[in-house]
Amino acid sequence: MKNSANSFNQLRQVIAEAEQKYGRQPGSVKLLAVTKTRPFEDISSAIDCGQTDFAENYVQEALGKITAINDPRLTWHFIGPIQSNKTRVIAENFHWVHSLDRAKIAQRLNDMRPDQLPPINICIQINISHEQNKSGIHPDALKDMVQVCTTLPRLRLRGLMTLPAPSDDFDQQRIPFRQLKEIFDVLNLSYPALDTLSMGTSHDMEAAIAEGSTMVRIGTALFGPRDYY
Ligand SMILES: *Cc1c(COP(=O)(O)O)cnc(C)c1O
Repeated sequence: MKNSANSFNQLRQVIAEAEQKYGRQPGSVKLLAVTKTRPFEDISSAIDCGQTDFAENYVQEALGKITAINDPRLTWHFIGPIQSNKTRVIAENFHWVHSLDRAKIAQRLNDMRPDQLPPINICIQINISHEQNKSGIHPDALKDMVQVCTTLPRLRLRGLMTLPAPSDDFDQQRIPFRQLKEIFDVLNLSYPALDTLSMGTSHDMEAAIAEGSTMVRIGTALFGPRDYY
């Protein structure tokens, strides 16, 4: 991996500069370290650099790490596709789910969330670029999904997430993020408690911050390229 103290400090600097450049409140963009495929040691060094929020895509892999690290100061975010036979492990071990895109999964997460834990934080994933075979709901289906989530007491709906089609052009990158922000702002009028726009990865983080992201999900820029997935 890369030198973790350096990459964390550099990335926090980039986020702070983007906040300033685009008129965002200082500290309004939270950094999630995406640790899929990374060994325990990467997570330990990230914790040493003060990182508390970690995101994982694969339930079994994540469970091994969460259990082995067993650190109550950490917040774990699930950001991968959700199979219905994995909802129990997610409901029992994660603080956040960013990739909710089916009512049936919402119901199962609600039913399986242990009583002694607070409601699980939820972002609904939107397929903003209308890509085929891509996770996330169509924006037209959002109203119904919000209705489902807000009637389930063990879910706490926090906002929206997207992973747009990749582009290398900064202005192109901004378009889907701006669309998601517009959808969020409309929803926020009826649901003022919503506070989260989960958008931006290593290659489009600045565009996402420019358009109002409150959580960026960063793997490669912190830990180097992944060997697989
Ligand atoms: C892997 C992944 C990321 C991190 O992507 P990087 O390009 O490594 O920063 C962010 N979000 C989701 C949903 C992912 O699957």
